Amino acid sequence: MKISLTDQNTAPVELDERIDARATRERYDLEREKRLRTDGVHQYSRLTDEFAELADDPWMPVVEREPVFDHVQFTFIGGGFAGLCAGAQLHKQGITDVRIIDGAGDFGGVWYWNRYPGAMCDTKSVVYMPLLDETGHIPTEKWVHGPELLEHAKRIGTQFDLYRKALFHTMATTVTWDEGHSRWIVETDRGDRFTTQFLGIGLGPLSVPKLPGIPGIEKFAGKSIHTARWDYSYTGGDAAGAPMEGLRDKRVGVVGTGATALQLIPEVAKYAKELFVFQRTPSTVAARNNGPLEAEAIELLSSGNGQERLLESFSVNWDGFIGQPAPGIEVEDLVNDGWTDLGRRMRAQIHSVPPEEFSMEAMMAAVGELDLMLMEERRNRIDEIVTDPKTAESLKPWYDLFCKRPGYHDEYLESFNRPNVHLVDTDGKGVSEITEAGAVVDGEEYPLDVIIYASGFEYGTGGSEYVKRAGFDLIGRDGTDLSEAWADGMETLHGMHVHGFPNMFIIQLFQGSFLGANVTQANNYAAQNLAAVVAQVLAEGNDEVEVSKEAQDAYVAMLLEFGQPFGRPDCTPGYYNDDGQPFGRSFQLNCGYPAGTVAFIKMIEQWCADKEFPELERRKSTNA
Ligand code: NDP
Repeated sequence: MKISLTDQNTAPVELDERIDARATRERYDLEREKRLRTDGVHQYSRLTDEFAELADDPWMPVVEREPVFDHVQFTFIGGGFAGLCAGAQLHKQGITDVRIIDGAGDFGGVWYWNRYPGAMCDTKSVVYMPLLDETGHIPTEKWVHGPELLEHAKRIGTQFDLYRKALFHTMATTVTWDEGHSRWIVETDRGDRFTTQFLGIGLGPLSVPKLPGIPGIEKFAGKSIHTARWDYSYTGGDAAGAPMEGLRDKRVGVVGTGATALQLIPEVAKYAKELFVFQRTPSTVAARNNGPLEAEAIELLSSGNGQERLLESFSVNWDGFIGQPAPGIEVEDLVNDGWTDLGRRMRAQIHSVPPEEFSMEAMMAAVGELDLMLMEERRNRIDEIVTDPKTAESLKPWYDLFCKRPGYHDEYLESFNRPNVHLVDTDGKGVSEITEAGAVVDGEEYPLDVIIYASGFEYGTGGSEYVKRAGFDLIGRDGTDLSEAWADGMETLHGMHVHGFPNMFIIQLFQGSFLGANVTQANNYAAQNLAAVVAQVLAEGNDEVEVSKEAQDAYVAMLLEFGQPFGRPDCTPGYYNDDGQPFGRSFQLNCGYPAGTVAFIKMIEQWCADKEFPELERRKSTNA
């Protein structure tokens, strides 16, 4: 069956009569059942205990330094794109006494740590790389590779003078509100104890690597690598793509077939003597069509404010899926990547329902038909590329497209045609055991020299889990710990302001713009918001700002009534849906602004332009 939706004109589709919707959905349920586990997210473990050395910084030695005891106006915990955008936006507002601290040895966050071969951005560079208009950088590829992203992070750090006060290889341990002095006291694992009037936190949604809970995982006598801490001293090669000569005589196992594995496997396949890919759930893999950045994009970016237009185009076109249908808001798709393509299609599908017949059920049915077609198209692509019919069959995903992060790659499926690459289909059960010699599936042991864990990161941990993931205690006014305040789920205004925690701003995805496909764009909007509030507080001559309890409660009540977490409980388990567990209040609150990203951005723009911030109480220090 050949079904193709690859035409550029996005028009609503009707279900192809060759697709048996009922049988397909029954297959989805069957596959989901195979993957359900009672331990949900607790099946995973961290890089601790016997795996602690996997978490060490492979990129830069930790250098001894004197502890710091001073005062800065703004401290941001996290040196990835959230912190960098915050630093840049504060700089634009004239606030330059800024310190960023990070456990890594430099700026870059996820791109500092994740230097596995093949790493590249997953959203088009022209919208993924923040502050292109400000820095003048023009990406080299449609989806640039890791080294260019890391360089860009450093570029922002240099341009906005963020290195001057930065503290790297430094983890906050306790951060305490100093009542009466309108400031936070920051203590770190390097013996620092400094104060800061304002505090920002941006830890990234996927910053804590996790290992699969496979029995015996600690027994393996060969080399273990997590993709977030690649070891080129073992594999040879480098992040820029030099050959991994160290793998030429190795039997390599890769556990995991998510977004990371899609990028990694084609590279490992080129060098490993034998590569065994242990698959629990296949990813969807559409064509990426990467290559040099298009001339039109270069021209647009050369104009000086081209990225602003690209970002607007991206969010309006993508938001057609996340947000409510918005007829009348049409913006030309200048980005044309997989996300905007899906967004346009979803929206066309939703708008195809006649207004007089419109209901949630009718909308879901229309989108469901499109989904069946898109998934069939992806399964067909596998048959077209993968030559061994059994391998092709095993690689086919059976779930709704957005049950997992939609994947794109130009070489992943092709890798399985190499004679040295073997797919080990665990039929939804995963690797059953790791022994001293290798991995066991269905009673068969696969001897290995190295096991690469492409097993992902902790995610969706709002509520008290956020604090566990952050790794430090945040003690607010009245001695309340953030984990106590969020014991029953994350409670904020706009995903950023928390009652009881004055002068503190969190940059993260939930309860705000929630741009699932483009985290950095969401970061930069949040950073603009944060900088506007701080500038206003200072301009008024105030010392403190804090969201009122009433405003926060009203916002949370609205989220509980209308918010939708990204995942669906009936999907195949994964990090989008709390690994298939029933959603509690805490997971429910891991949602975006219910009216969608575009509506959120417009609301915040107006909020900042008005400069009134009625939900935020401002006051002078009681010690002033
Ligand atoms: P994922 O959580 O998406 O994937 C983890 C993989 O490990 C899954 O295939 C999972 O299987 C598998 N796994 C877990 N336990 C076992 C087991 N016991 N046996 C066998 N397999 C197992 O992590 P990724 O690192 O791939 O991606 C996480 C996210 O990071 C992405 O969704 C994306 O948002 C982001 N990312 C972004 C990139 C970019 O922008 N360039 C690149 C890479 C990642 P199962 O599916 O069955 O749970």
